Amino acid sequence: MKWIKLSEIINEIAKQKVELVMSLQTKSDYRAALLRRGDLLVIYLNMAYNKSDNEIIESIAHELAHLKAERHTNKFYEEYERLKNEIKQKMEV
Ligand SMILES: [Zn+2]
Repeated sequence: MKWIKLSEIINEIAKQKVELVMSLQTKSDYRAALLRRGDLLVIYLNMAYNKSDNEIIESIAHELAHLKAERHTNKFYEEYERLKNEIKQKMEV
């Protein structure tokens, strides 16, 4: 994964600085999570469940879509699909 490029794309989409935190907590259930810490947004990626570039992009698109819709509504999935395509296009994946 081209992490610097991905990070720049994420900041651009979120219109703010987003910190990416990766963990290898294989006993934990979550695949990714979005947290607000004051002004900072943090996306946690559980690398046990994000093995391919495609999975990483899907997880990040999912978390960023939550900025537009908190719950998994139709609006959320529309935004998720849109962001997934945008990130893939910009990453040239
Ligand atoms: Zn979700």
